[in-house]
Amino acid sequence: MRMKRMAAIAAVAGLAVAMAACGGDSDEGGSGTGASGIVGKAENQKKLVIGVKADQPGLGLQTGSQYEGFDIELAKIIAKGLGVEEGNIEWKTTVSANREPFIEQGTVDLVLATYTINDERKQKVGFAGPYYLAGQDLLVRADSDITGPESLEGKTVCSATGSTPAKRIQEDYPKARLQQFDAYSKCLPLLENGQVDAVTTDDIILAGYAAQDQYAGKFKVVGKTFSDEPYGIGISKNDTAGCEKVNEILKAAAEDGSYKAAWDATLGKSGTPAPELDTTKLTHCGAA
Ligand code: GLU
Repeated sequence: MRMKRMAAIAAVAGLAVAMAACGGDSDEGGSGTGASGIVGKAENQKKLVIGVKADQPGLGLQTGSQYEGFDIELAKIIAKGLGVEEGNIEWKTTVSANREPFIEQGTVDLVLATYTINDERKQKVGFAGPYYLAGQDLLVRADSDITGPESLEGKTVCSATGSTPAKRIQEDYPKARLQQFDAYSKCLPLLENGQVDAVTTDDIILAGYAAQDQYAGKFKVVGKTFSDEPYGIGISKNDTAGCEKVNEILKAAAEDGSYKAAWDATLGKSGTPAPELDTTKLTHCGAA
């Protein structure tokens, strides 16, 4: 009797281990329909929480309760591909430093927020994409003689905490005086009134600020990028199936023209043609 009971426990324990192993790939072990991760959530709850920027014109900009920009349009395409209607997306404002914690804690399901894919972040979160390649640049006053990161010695440079551009200044240009805020938009008045000499982040973000009416003619983007910033879609590290699904949706968006339409309706308004989305370069979801 006792032996039998032990065997039964062992059998159940073995089964649990086997099921946990399957669940790790996150296409099994979920609720009713069998899917877990974002695919399961979209299927079962028909809604998603998406983390986006709120102060980056052309990319993610909040006016009242509305969000607009390229990241927002792509988020809508991805939600639709997962079966979630636009009206059932809950937009959640993120800043550079809280993107990993928001994903890890489940505060958001996805992040589309000018979010560079890199190995350090991949320790904590997963990435689908890349869907755009940006590069770090400098925004300076129109009459500035700063010509690139090598002319930053002794100058005050403003950036966002937790961002790759801030880190690069600290590591590669330690003679620059770095001032950090939670969001880049806080740097702009300081650049205007002379309290900082430059603002640094991705070229595409800086171009959006330079084009704002209130700063017309006041700033210029130096135009010499000094990094690669491939933008990814942040997702829970274990959600391999979700990551693969998002990559499939991106591939379809490249093919059916909706990626181009998202660009044309946002960043493309300035006349810059849509970039080619190279779907051969999409991430290998689940790979370390
Ligand atoms: N792409 C860079 C990053 O992910 C800079 C832009 C941002 O902070 O959102 O850190």
